[in-house]
Amino acid sequence: MEQIYNFSAGPAVLPKEVLQQARDEMLDWHGSGMSVMEMSHRGKEFMAIAAQTENDLRELAGIPQNYKVLFLQGGASSQFAMVPMNLLRGKTSADYINTGQWSTKAIEEASRYCSVNVAASSADANFTYVPPQSGWHLNSDAAYVHYTSNETIGGVEFQWVPQVDVPLVVDMSSDILSRPLDITRFGLIYAGAQKNLGPAGLTLVIVREDLLGKPLPGTPTLYDYQIHAQNDSMYNTPPTYAMYITGLVLAWLKKQGGLAAMEKINIAKADLLYNYLDSTDFYHCPVAKADRSRMNVPFTLKDSALDGEFLKQAQHNGLLQLKGHRSVGGMRASIYNAMPLEGVAKLVAFMKEFASHHA
Ligand SMILES: *Cc1c(COP(=O)(O)O)cnc(C)c1O
Repeated sequence: MEQIYNFSAGPAVLPKEVLQQARDEMLDWHGSGMSVMEMSHRGKEFMAIAAQTENDLRELAGIPQNYKVLFLQGGASSQFAMVPMNLLRGKTSADYINTGQWSTKAIEEASRYCSVNVAASSADANFTYVPPQSGWHLNSDAAYVHYTSNETIGGVEFQWVPQVDVPLVVDMSSDILSRPLDITRFGLIYAGAQKNLGPAGLTLVIVREDLLGKPLPGTPTLYDYQIHAQNDSMYNTPPTYAMYITGLVLAWLKKQGGLAAMEKINIAKADLLYNYLDSTDFYHCPVAKADRSRMNVPFTLKDSALDGEFLKQAQHNGLLQLKGHRSVGGMRASIYNAMPLEGVAKLVAFMKEFASHHA
């Protein structure tokens, strides 16, 4: 079989070894006679899988004991509401940083529950940069500050962690575990799994314990973090199979050497692609250099009439799902943890070849 590289933004590529292990364990997990999909979430087999998954995540990300790890459903989009419902804690406003389409969605949803102060925005430049913190207009009475560490569509990523005096909340859906992180800087981290963690269906929340227990009146039971924390994410059925696959991904990450090792590889992959983009005027990346994402690389062709041909030939060469988001156009190469360096090298070689034929 020809080597295929999948550049999808999400659901996205998974490590091949993980898929192979899942295949091997599909019908009979560890001699249990059951597929993981068929197990009770309260049985000893699945309880062991869940515990291992949480332990590996805690070890990889260095999560302190005073933080809860929650395995939820509903996608990162459900967190756009769950965050204000739980973290306003009697206050009536929150600060948001707007760096693109996902921040904008978070802001729109939070506006249903509180007065949102957009403390900074890069809308003035079509969301192609991160506003430096020196220019932010934070509200001293905000319940929390929310930002999106990596804008999956725009390809804009914070290369630094904001310094604020209230709980810092981050949507890390598309760059979680791509580099080491200091959990203690955050009040709450959330991420849909299907970009950089595992399959769709699982939403991960890491939250500081003292922020729990004061939901807005009327908050649905399933939207109350405290309920999930008190029940070890088993108040109702968690997304068991997605947790299992995520567990395999975490074990794979440990085998790669952990987050510091992943960061090195991710930098090498991103440098390879951006250095080429900057070396030619056949292609163009619109994002400010300092704020370019290591995970999602948007680029355009000088002549957009060639887009269709580019995608067709890329596919023919085993380079899949490079079409940019429908709202942006052009191309986007998502190069998450599971994308090997060889995949990016093959993409760059193809891009050079294509440019030389169409210059
Ligand atoms: C994909 C994505 C979302 C939405 O995730 P769903 O799981 O589809 O709700 C939110 N934020 C970011 C940064 C994303 O990349």
